[in-house]
Amino acid sequence: MKYNTLIRRSHFLIIILLAALLSGGFSAIAQQNIRVEPPFWWAGMHYNKLQLLVHGNDIARAEVQLDYPGITIQGITRVENPNYLFIDLILDPDVRPGIFPINFRLNNKHIYTYQYQLKQRNQESASRKGFDQSDVLYLLMPDRFANGDPLNDNHVEMSEKVNRSNPSGRHGGDIQGILEHLDYFKDLGITTLWINPLLENNHPEYSYHGYAITDFYRIDPRFGTNADYVALVDAAHRKGLKIVMDMILNHCGINHWFIRDLPMPGWIHQFPEFTRSNFRAETLTDPHASLADQNRMLQGWFDRHMPDLDQRNPYLRNYLIQNSIWWIEFAGLDGIRLDTQPYPYAGMTAEWTTRIMDEYPNFNIVGEAWLQRESMTAHFQKPYADCAGFSIGMPVVTDFPLQGALSRAFSEPEGWSEGMARIYMVLAQDFVYDNPYNTLIFLDNHDLNRYFNTIGNDMQAMKMALTFLLTTRGIPQLYYGTELLMDGQEHLGHGEIRKDFPGGWAADTVNAFVAAGRSNAQNEIYNHLKNLLHWRGNARAVHYGKLLHFLPEDGVYTYFRILNDEVVMVMINNNTEPKNVSINRFSEVIGGYNQAREVITGQPVMWSDHIVIPARTASVFEMVK
Ligand code: CA
Repeated sequence: MKYNTLIRRSHFLIIILLAALLSGGFSAIAQQNIRVEPPFWWAGMHYNKLQLLVHGNDIARAEVQLDYPGITIQGITRVENPNYLFIDLILDPDVRPGIFPINFRLNNKHIYTYQYQLKQRNQESASRKGFDQSDVLYLLMPDRFANGDPLNDNHVEMSEKVNRSNPSGRHGGDIQGILEHLDYFKDLGITTLWINPLLENNHPEYSYHGYAITDFYRIDPRFGTNADYVALVDAAHRKGLKIVMDMILNHCGINHWFIRDLPMPGWIHQFPEFTRSNFRAETLTDPHASLADQNRMLQGWFDRHMPDLDQRNPYLRNYLIQNSIWWIEFAGLDGIRLDTQPYPYAGMTAEWTTRIMDEYPNFNIVGEAWLQRESMTAHFQKPYADCAGFSIGMPVVTDFPLQGALSRAFSEPEGWSEGMARIYMVLAQDFVYDNPYNTLIFLDNHDLNRYFNTIGNDMQAMKMALTFLLTTRGIPQLYYGTELLMDGQEHLGHGEIRKDFPGGWAADTVNAFVAAGRSNAQNEIYNHLKNLLHWRGNARAVHYGKLLHFLPEDGVYTYFRILNDEVVMVMINNNTEPKNVSINRFSEVIGGYNQAREVITGQPVMWSDHIVIPARTASVFEMVK
């Protein structure tokens, strides 16, 4: 029934189009929406080329006219689908900001004008400093954090409607909800927000997580508008908070407008029947791997509603690179988290990274390399030697091997390879990294079991793990709700690990954004984190100091962060009884010290030859001369 209606409609459309053509006019082109992307750009960018994608019915038949001082049309490309035009522009270094018409003409008749704007680039834009080891990222899922604007829960153009009773449905959280809690983040002490994708995901179900984009230039209207996003970044900056945008180069949503009207067959990977990726990124580093396995990894689709983009296509590659730069410049971003780093072709990721870092030399990007082994993870940080012309590696990679160790170390008996040794063994392999300090370290995230659940809801283990995370090498990332001891297991459904933040909705009976709304246990962990985070904010040795550690002995793991004369010592006692730790072994670092301040208790500590560490405790000592 529905199908027949569609066929009848398309016949009707063809008749209209034929009538328009036969009458000698091209009103069909003139009257439709013509899309130009990027929708605007900036004068004064480092890279002097800009490629515009123009989409409109039969637009390839049009001639393009553009006359603006400092801009040259380098070429106009027509591709397989006549609904697309690619316009390559060269921008002089001194091109001035302004608005100019791009005229589209057919048979010497004007059919459409797009007013293109070159904005004035912010003077400080190029030198912006991205997040680094002095920061702590707080990952939140916008649909599940706070509903600041119930009026945007549903949108007439978006097929999925709000349903908070469905764990896989949309719950109504939005940008306004994040904006209203900036003081909460400041109180907790994190410095940077990594927000799961906010771009339009127009799908009938599972649209809340944001990883199936249907418009790369539009904030999903159920989260807010593009202007709302810019306002959030501005407000965060005024409070000293940074914003990291979650970006995806590997795939998009099946309802994306350019998937529904593909520019060319090679825009995405296509198969005779649905073919899923094997999700085995190790095939890319395996010297014995078959081409079949590698191709399946790179070309297979992530899911039925996530077509796999073919980044070998130069137009697609340019489209995605320009889109990322557009968001950095437009919104004033402090960093990018790149989704599924191994899955796009390495040449694309190399070009993308190089173009971004050329434009913003102090920027930062973390690539999600979800791999179990240190060597394979490190591979994705290394410069792309085999990608001619693009020699920059990924600045930061996710440290899943350390996360794997942390998921067991605090909840198993000590042993030669177990307990504290498990952590030591991961860090002892840091030689494989280009820069082991540029790793994103975490206990859990939106794809993993909640850490509190992983360690058997053990408060002491939670505190030890958090203390370790905030003092070892790397850039710590927390997942929202960790400060509330949220639990949940991934195998019971993603909704279990992406629960609503209590108090984020007006109807909530509990408001965990304030101490009075948190349980005693929640306040205990919240205060533990808050105490450490605020201290870490000024602990330069933890930001930029060398890590020096000692083999775990008798279930006690001792390590130092050393920056000139600033020295921090951490002792983790993973035993169920207190330990009397001899200091002599550490004399190469603290020979000249015999007193410190213990950061968590705030108490001064003096020693002669021993320190007592309580059972199941991580103590942090700031050395005092
Ligand atoms: Ca809302």
